[in-house]
Amino acid sequence: MIELHSLTKVFGNAAAVRDVNLTIQPGEFFSLLGPSGCGKTTTLRMIAGFEEPSSGKIVLAGDDVTWTSPRRRNVNMVFQNYALFPHMSVAENVRFGLKIKRVKDPEAGERVADMLAAVRLEGFERRVPAELSGGQQQRVALARALANRPEALLLDEPLGALDLKLRKEMQLELKSIQQRTGTTFVYVTHDQEEALTMSDRIAVMNGGRVEQVDDPRRLYERPKTSFVAGFIGTSNLLTIPVDDRSGGVATADLGDGMRLTCRDPVTSNGSVTITVRPEKIGLAPWQPGRAEPADKTGSRVRGTVAENVYLGSMTQLIVEIQTGERLIVNQLNDRAGAEPIQPGSEVVLSWETENSFVVEDDRQERKVGA
Ligand code: ATP
Repeated sequence: MIELHSLTKVFGNAAAVRDVNLTIQPGEFFSLLGPSGCGKTTTLRMIAGFEEPSSGKIVLAGDDVTWTSPRRRNVNMVFQNYALFPHMSVAENVRFGLKIKRVKDPEAGERVADMLAAVRLEGFERRVPAELSGGQQQRVALARALANRPEALLLDEPLGALDLKLRKEMQLELKSIQQRTGTTFVYVTHDQEEALTMSDRIAVMNGGRVEQVDDPRRLYERPKTSFVAGFIGTSNLLTIPVDDRSGGVATADLGDGMRLTCRDPVTSNGSVTITVRPEKIGLAPWQPGRAEPADKTGSRVRGTVAENVYLGSMTQLIVEIQTGERLIVNQLNDRAGAEPIQPGSEVVLSWETENSFVVEDDRQERKVGA
């Protein structure tokens, strides 16, 4: 539905979007996710035609629209501030775009009714925006944008103005509206949980570049870079000196049965950066003198609990391990009366080899580029 080829936008002498290549499928809920200033909105505005690319190509439903005016592109944009007409009723707001496109009754009336049903606002036709809640206003904005039957709907942080509870409800609502209408959605957000909840696929952007495009599960389970690992959920990064590679497993031997492992491919011996999620790590008290089981595989590393943070359903432990690095470990609070592990406790952390994998470490690169 949408193809971006080497899309680049330079403002003055700073590149806001750098060499972005993406293909978005028809009917897909596709999100652009990244921190403030990473180029999400600029990318979306180029798709809409509000911003001209410095170089590259935009293809919409097979047509090259790179230099086509916004009005001639069959896409619609929904903004955070809704941009509803305050003096018009809900029905008039939804009908507005149809008037411009010269869609006449009875078709216009039918489309307005269909769209208000799709966003569950039947019965609200005569109200004006001031008589609606924030969530309802956003649904009117959606209905207005969808009434034109755009090939794609471009949404720029559309839930940003809503409070947390309403935002969560609207996330599910938006996803179901998208599924009911079958419209391609391109959604801009800096909120990783929001993107994970709604998207079929997500492009994670950083410094104007796309770092990884994947479905939510793969982004979380198999981040390719340290940036993606840290931006999607909480992640532990460890730099390990690999001194053995056999049977598809790379190992850093820490002595006394302790080691860090990860799945190869590791391109060469030497240091690699690996990641492990906090919920994948098991924790047991350290028992001096107890021999480590020789047949165990995976990572085993000693550490000292530095902090414990009670978070209701779980406790987050910060553990300083024997390499000097700090790992976050999540422990479910699922046993009645269990005492939290206190700072200063000596522990052994362990996790399966499959839960660690090598990521491209772009921490240094970002510091240089910042
Ligand atoms: P946010 O989540 O804060 O909206 P974003 O990821 O959408 O951020 P963009 O709005 O695309 O980021 O901006 C990317 C970069 O381009 C930023 O550094 C921004 O300051 C710069 N930028 C955006 N628009 C312009 C402009 N019209 N003129 C100059 N610089 C701009």
